[in-house]
Amino acid sequence: MSKMVFTAAGGANFIGASAYVLKLGDRHICVDWGQSVSKSVEGPQYDGSLDYLLLTHGHADHIGLVPVALRRWPHLKIFATAETKELAKIAWSQTIYHSLRKEAQNRHQPLFTREEAEIAEKAIVTITPGETINLSGDIQVTPLPAGHILGAVSFLVEYQDETCFFSGDICYHESFFVPGAPLHTLDRCRLLVRESVYINTDFDDRESIVRDFVQSAEAVLRRGGQLLVPALSIHRTQEMYAIAAEAGLGPVYIDGSRQATEVYRQFAPRCGEVLENVPRFESHDERRRLIQSREPAIIIASSGMVYENTLSATWAENLIFREQNAIFTVNYQDPCGQGHRLVHSEKGKFIPFNGGIVKRMCEIRHFPLSAHMDGTDGQKMEERLNPDIVVYAHGENDQIETYLEANPSTVNRKKIKAEVGKEIEL
Ligand SMILES: [Zn+2]
Ligand SMILES: [Zn+2]
Repeated sequence: MSKMVFTAAGGANFIGASAYVLKLGDRHICVDWGQSVSKSVEGPQYDGSLDYLLLTHGHADHIGLVPVALRRWPHLKIFATAETKELAKIAWSQTIYHSLRKEAQNRHQPLFTREEAEIAEKAIVTITPGETINLSGDIQVTPLPAGHILGAVSFLVEYQDETCFFSGDICYHESFFVPGAPLHTLDRCRLLVRESVYINTDFDDRESIVRDFVQSAEAVLRRGGQLLVPALSIHRTQEMYAIAAEAGLGPVYIDGSRQATEVYRQFAPRCGEVLENVPRFESHDERRRLIQSREPAIIIASSGMVYENTLSATWAENLIFREQNAIFTVNYQDPCGQGHRLVHSEKGKFIPFNGGIVKRMCEIRHFPLSAHMDGTDGQKMEERLNPDIVVYAHGENDQIETYLEANPSTVNRKKIKAEVGKEIEL
């Protein structure tokens, strides 16, 4: 058996800049090459060689910097599902758009050019879940549906007699557009690299959260309020729209997320047609008119974490003063994001928001409709895959440490917190 080494280049004991390098003999496979979520961490940190890049799904923290990786390793062979490729193209064009704006203000060097994004797009070999690809004589890779968003996969890597499993971001319960990840069982595997976003949290059952959301949204409309639902632009936006539309709530608008919604309309294995003719705003005037009309409405707007100067932040700033209105968050909240601040604010108190200060009068609630596995799902996954080594990645440092204190390594299973640059010999 030739040497096998695992190294996290990003997405380790934090969320963002996901990149996991697996050295198999003299070949180097990397899973994902993402952008950082917060500004405190740059992209992936890795200086060795790379031969293959496998992309799990189209979120920017997993595919955001692929054009940069290709500049560094021009012969890199890249694999992704058709849906991931479409979503990646959107993420890259948004990055170019934002960096051109910042460059114009002399605040930034562009991360990559339009030409580099086109080269990356052409370099992607499309893969299909369940179909094994032969990387080179003794390395086989099988993408398996991961249920997290449209086109998301986990990767099963087989090398000589050994198996490694990369969960990617994974979700076992079905959502409106995407079936949950199937339960995959192995006799044993050498390495499991798993996401750890909700490693210590168990969710209530999803149907009751959805029911609660629908009833609460109905109550806001009934009292004449306007409801803002800040939502991640891929998956959560489309899902919340479909939930509201199916429950007969309305009117429901989507603000932002135009291209991702189009990808869902075209590719979703079920019910993509729900997303035809979604009401939208074509100008600021149209938005202003709706706010001033005070007519009941639901507005689903990006960003899901209500970062400053985004559509959801602007809507929140306008709706927060009126008691009848409401803001319902429906996805993970970055502790540094404004969404987190809103959820933890008190009614009647002032909070810093969008660079100023606002008095929060509206109702604010959080509905944990995550597209990640929870703590129990993660433990069951470990039991089914039976790994010798588990690497906990893509989670907050304190959460992973708390988990490892309560669930230490055993004789048969070594459990390791991912850290950037730490080599783990397999
Ligand atoms: Zn994701
Ligand atoms: Zn992620």
